[in-house]
Amino acid sequence: MYLRQPMNIDEINKIKGLLSTSKNIVIVTHKNPDGDAVGSSLALYHYLNAYKHNVTVITPNDYPDFLKWIPGQETIIKFDNNAHIAKSKIEEADLIFTLDFNHFSRSGDMEKTLSVAEATFVMIDHHQQPDSYAKYMYSDTGMSSTCQMIYHFIEKLDDIEKITPKIATCIYVGMMTDTGSFRFRSTTSTTHRVVADLIDKGADNTSIHEKIYDTNTLSRIQLKGIALNNLKVLPEYNTAYITLSQKELDQSDFKKGDTEGFVNLGLSITGIKFALIFIENKGDEIIKISLRSKGDFSVNEFSRNHFEGGGHHNAAGGRSNLSLSDTVEKFISILPSYKNVLNQ
Ligand code: 5GP
Ligand code: MN
Repeated sequence: MYLRQPMNIDEINKIKGLLSTSKNIVIVTHKNPDGDAVGSSLALYHYLNAYKHNVTVITPNDYPDFLKWIPGQETIIKFDNNAHIAKSKIEEADLIFTLDFNHFSRSGDMEKTLSVAEATFVMIDHHQQPDSYAKYMYSDTGMSSTCQMIYHFIEKLDDIEKITPKIATCIYVGMMTDTGSFRFRSTTSTTHRVVADLIDKGADNTSIHEKIYDTNTLSRIQLKGIALNNLKVLPEYNTAYITLSQKELDQSDFKKGDTEGFVNLGLSITGIKFALIFIENKGDEIIKISLRSKGDFSVNEFSRNHFEGGGHHNAAGGRSNLSLSDTVEKFISILPSYKNVLNQ
């Protein structure tokens, strides 16, 4: 069953039926959770809690410090350091909501536990090419964020008036972070209407912005300096990329989330249509890649085809098992086949 906007009233009624009696509910999101992942999970958590369900949010691993003020975040169970409890919650769940991802492989070490869980799955997500594990799917790649979809989900359940200041705050976080503060193409007039209503319902927009973005440390600003120093432009492909080695990260006292947004530095150069950042992770023995584009060039396809990743048309992630320099070499060797599309 596949719900697209406008949502099918039958499916909504079935979900309403499921939620009409108290349930054990688990909400899970993707590995390396971002603002949209944590925001949507906690918004749904607060909403369902008010109906006296037994609700648990589980993330595969930890998330950056700049998200550690979002209402309810202290209740989140991290699978990687609490696997025993997390597994039993997933096994005992009647309902599992999977938010901001659409394929179990995105759930890190939780993948196996999820794939054998007997619960009814509900997917709410805005990424491309959804898998088919969920009985109820609300999948819409046109949406700015999973957080916006949580708003529409509550709206379809006829519960807009149940949006508290806490819920409004959680939803606002993910809408703001996934749209680059309401600037990306996915930002529609509806996005702004939803945000206006969230402010009316108690989301403090200025303070949320400050809590997310004005949390730099000196070492993070200096890491940005290193990233800028390493920025390379390939004018014949309208492409810019940044590398950061493990050594450079260590020098800068790197913490999760410190490189957030760096990839956009390359994309902000006039004429650049494709920007990447390659970040060495010696612990996981991978190079983590973030890809961004402007216009028609699909980084989702590019990452799927070459770097075991995916995401959205203009924003995707990927990985490589080669060394940092071999990864960059591989990347540069692939570019000529995209020369035409990058020069359109
Ligand atoms: P980021 O570069 O910020 O890690 O990710 C950009 C977007 O691509 C996010 O929406 C993220 O969920 C998605 N994404 C990141 N890594 C992967 C990946 O390995 N596979 C898929 N399918 N999506 C990814
Ligand atoms: Mn998202």
